[in-house]
Amino acid sequence: MRMKDKVALLSGAAGGMGAATARLLAREGAKAVIVADLLDKEGEAVVADIAKAGGRASYAHLDVTDEAQWKGVIDRILADHGQLDVLVNNAGISGSAEQDLYDTAAWNRLMGINATGVFLGMKHAIAAMKKAGRGSVINLSSVSGIVGQGNIHVGYNASKGAVRLITKAAAAQHGRDGIRINSVHPGLMPPMRTSGRTADPATRAKTLKGVPLGRAGEVDEVAYAILFLASDESSYVTGAELVVDGGWTAV
Ligand code: NAD
Repeated sequence: MRMKDKVALLSGAAGGMGAATARLLAREGAKAVIVADLLDKEGEAVVADIAKAGGRASYAHLDVTDEAQWKGVIDRILADHGQLDVLVNNAGISGSAEQDLYDTAAWNRLMGINATGVFLGMKHAIAAMKKAGRGSVINLSSVSGIVGQGNIHVGYNASKGAVRLITKAAAAQHGRDGIRINSVHPGLMPPMRTSGRTADPATRAKTLKGVPLGRAGEVDEVAYAILFLASDESSYVTGAELVVDGGWTAV
């Protein structure tokens, strides 16, 4: 039971890698898993699945761009469970639907959700974790936070690059508070809900040619990386970037 006695909050966990991770943390015996998202019906369904499998979970509506909602959700967790041990900043949107890779509204949307959303989550979770003197924050970046791509909005790379460096800065600042902060960088995974061009089978096949393992990743393969960082097994790991990309960025 790798998550025994731990309370974990995951943003954007109504589907995709967030939902897979919520299920895994619950299977590993978490004291409570809080599934947060904008999509209430889908999020409630993930919680119902976890409960059916014998796990402990609840749902919270959370728009990661809204600071008051972050504060409300974390205050509620502290009131209900008395602790917050793990934050998985997973919510995000894709940059592959826009035609204009310099569209200003898309830049603001991408930075608002993918970067500011992570900043706000860290701000409020770290304040709670500092009081307890322990905690683990896992921020979902991407291979797009390490290398550029030709066919996605520049704001996606900028936002994921920001997540990579916010992670390292916060790790440097909060090590002595007992809080570890790491980033996870998935490569070619099942398309995001908001994917455009990158969901196209021909585009995916072309991308795969550059992936040494020769296949796309599965959501559980990222969930297990997050589990490692959330558990005490990674007790000496902070400020690290864990790439889960089949070797994409190694070549
Ligand atoms: P997904 O689209 O399946 O899930 C993202 C979730 O975030 C959705 O449930 C969505 O409702 C939620 N969300 C969006 N905006 C939100 C907001 N303002 N507030 C709260 N929730 C919001 O995508 P996924 O593939 O599971 O991606 C999870 C994370 O991994 C994202 O940060 C993404 O950028 C990153 N990532 C994905 C891939 C990929 O290929 N799928 C690759 C690398 C990194």
